[in-house]
Amino acid sequence: MSEQTRQIKLEAGILPGVSTGTIKKIIKAGITTVEALATLNPRDLKDDASMGLDTSENAIKAAIDLTENGFITGNELWDRRKLRTRLSTGSRAVDEIMRSQQDIENDKRGGFESETTTEIAAGNGVGKTQLCHQLAVIAQLPIPEGGLDGEVVWVDTENTFIPGRIDQICKARGYDTEGFLDKIHHGLALNTPHQGMLIEKLYSYCPEHNIKLIIVDSLMGLLRSEYIGRGTLSARQDELKTMLLTLAKVARSTKTTVIYTNQIMDDPGSMYANASKATGGNVMGHAATTRIWLRKGRAGSRVFKINKSPYLDELEATFIITENGIEDTEDNIKRWSKMEEEQ
Ligand code: ADP
Ligand code: MG
Repeated sequence: MSEQTRQIKLEAGILPGVSTGTIKKIIKAGITTVEALATLNPRDLKDDASMGLDTSENAIKAAIDLTENGFITGNELWDRRKLRTRLSTGSRAVDEIMRSQQDIENDKRGGFESETTTEIAAGNGVGKTQLCHQLAVIAQLPIPEGGLDGEVVWVDTENTFIPGRIDQICKARGYDTEGFLDKIHHGLALNTPHQGMLIEKLYSYCPEHNIKLIIVDSLMGLLRSEYIGRGTLSARQDELKTMLLTLAKVARSTKTTVIYTNQIMDDPGSMYANASKATGGNVMGHAATTRIWLRKGRAGSRVFKINKSPYLDELEATFIITENGIEDTEDNIKRWSKMEEEQ
């Protein structure tokens, strides 16, 4: 296993001062790596693994020590950051705006960054689920080809995952559909608590199955249909906050790329005409490392806009959805070939 995917399996004797019985209880609660343990809150672990608060605190502290989650120098942090991978979208135009100055200097591609979370927000029918299908295929490719060299989890809340679409995308590229479908682990969330359970399971499921990409399509779908009316807002936001926090911790501790979709709604409260906003309010707005907005563009194209990122400019790129998946527009392809001719 390469350095960037290395994880320490939780087992008896691995954590100084933590008994075998305690380790067994933690594993039984679904935590199977030291990295995942290090991200937990002692009060949650106490409840989930039925143990005393002292025991829970002690175990988490030992995990933090072992994974060197104390202070490190800026240079050490920089070296760790360089190990993050980037998942290509399959569109050169989109990958280019997702490429940081750092990536260019390190001769890396652009794309969705591992160990972080990305929200993709768009109105109905714009192409969120289509993009997710494409990413579920690309993630399985080797890293030099823009993939993550791993398997995929798809948490489906709207029952919109289509194996036949994976077949089209694979066939267009000459890949073996069966092999790719075998590496997509599909979980249909039946209701909000079930969605929460599936997400919680990822701490142990990801390292066990070499999962490198987690898709949640869509994060808010069930929450919005189950919590209706003003009085339920605070309970809904609590549920949402827990899921978002877990996804961020899973991304970090299992070194996966996490992508979740969100809906965009009309905003009648805005002072601007035709204003719209992503659902989930501030809890959602502040959670993802990177926020992407998709919208319909000219002549059936789609516009991919970086709305928030710690280091990417807020740029836009255009792509199209075809039989083959997500592709570059004719205009962009012509422009690049002209540029290459001129060189
Ligand atoms: P959402 O953002 O609601 O998840 P989808 O990802 O389901 O939207 O996108 C649906 C749109 O994708 C359709 O309206 C259609 O324009 C486009 N689309 C789906 N399949 C194909 C295909 N095989 N070829 C071209 N366009 C497609
Ligand atoms: Mg969809």
